[in-house]
Amino acid sequence: MFEIAVIGAGIAGLTCAQKLQQAGKSVVLIDKSRGLGGRLATRRLAGTHADHGVCYLQPKGDLFRAWIAELVAAGILRVWTEGIHSLSSDGILQPPTKSVPYYAAPLGATSIAKYLGRDLEIIGDKLITAISLMEHGWRLSSKDPEFSLTAEQIVFATPPAQALVIAKTQIDPACIQQLSSVQFSRSITAIAVYPTTDQNAAAAITWQGIHCIEHPTLAWIGLDSSKQLNPTQPVLVVQSSAAFAEQYFDAPDLAIIGQKLIDAIVPLVPALTQPELIQVHRWGYAFAQNPLSERFLTAQTIAPLYFCGDWCGGNRVESAYLSGMTVADKILNNS
Ligand SMILES: Cc1cc2nc3c(=O)[nH]c(=O)nc-3n(C[C@H](O)[C@H](O)[C@H](O)COP(=O)(O)OP(=O)(O)OC[C@H]3O[C@@H](n4cnc5c(N)ncnc54)[C@H](O)[C@@H]3O)c2cc1C
Repeated sequence: MFEIAVIGAGIAGLTCAQKLQQAGKSVVLIDKSRGLGGRLATRRLAGTHADHGVCYLQPKGDLFRAWIAELVAAGILRVWTEGIHSLSSDGILQPPTKSVPYYAAPLGATSIAKYLGRDLEIIGDKLITAISLMEHGWRLSSKDPEFSLTAEQIVFATPPAQALVIAKTQIDPACIQQLSSVQFSRSITAIAVYPTTDQNAAAAITWQGIHCIEHPTLAWIGLDSSKQLNPTQPVLVVQSSAAFAEQYFDAPDLAIIGQKLIDAIVPLVPALTQPELIQVHRWGYAFAQNPLSERFLTAQTIAPLYFCGDWCGGNRVESAYLSGMTVADKILNNS
């Protein structure tokens, strides 16, 4: 039996598991995906790659800033740009108003997750579907009948709706109410890869990233290849607005959705006319709309159950990191 099972290998789960393990706890981290990172995601493409989830890290507080400095020292992160452009709803491009460092990983955002998870015991490709109380802890189950895992305590490091599906029958009404109260927006990402012959056209682009403010279709446009040390071909990442995602999330033909997003950016990149590849990803839980003020939740149960994630205190990587750290501190203080 493990002392702690952490469900969800996004930044919150990885941070929590790493801190507990470094304090000498026996920890296992389980994720439904094969890879690590959750929304900190990189898509491998022929000859290149793109971050289709988290675009950059921008520290606000000292703890997260110190962690970023550690990642810079380890060669995982570097300053990508000092300013992000903005696009108004009527399509007017504005230069950055302030100069602050935005960090990105030249090898892709998942290199951050791999760095965090390097010494952890991780079980991938395992969707946890149920937990049941035992005499001294919890049994975790998945659809795979061969899978069986027990732990004294469980930390859910998933969006709250995904935790509720598993834990609802085990937790008190107040905890159910808090978990149910957090709403997430959805998002659709299109990745466009252009031919190597377009590299000069990309070099002429004067921005690295654009926040689209109250735009009907777009939320973000990134020249993602500019994060790489020696890019050989241009790669653009386009994220939809929440309204666009609501309208098209369940549309059957992803190619049409991707093309709509790429068509919307043509006025900004007139020299990049014909992508050689467009890929699309749908995010069912993109950003918490009404995060809780608490850094984590505890359920009133016989054996300990905790809930953490970006939605505890914010809706960015920094809040996920702080949430994972805080719940780990709580578990260590209790033991
Ligand atoms: C398109 C997009 C762009 C973004 N850009 C930025 C940005 O530029 N900067 C920034 O700071 N933030 C950004 N964010 C937000 C950021 O991605 C999140 O705040 C952060 O990554 C959340 O981390 P987390 O660990 O809380 O959750 P997640 O990353 O969602 O991790 C949860 C994990 O739980 C796993 N899981 C869920 N249910 C189960 C189950 N039943 N069994 C097993 N595993 C399960 C999932 O597979 C996932 O790996 C962006 C988000 C999106 C979607």
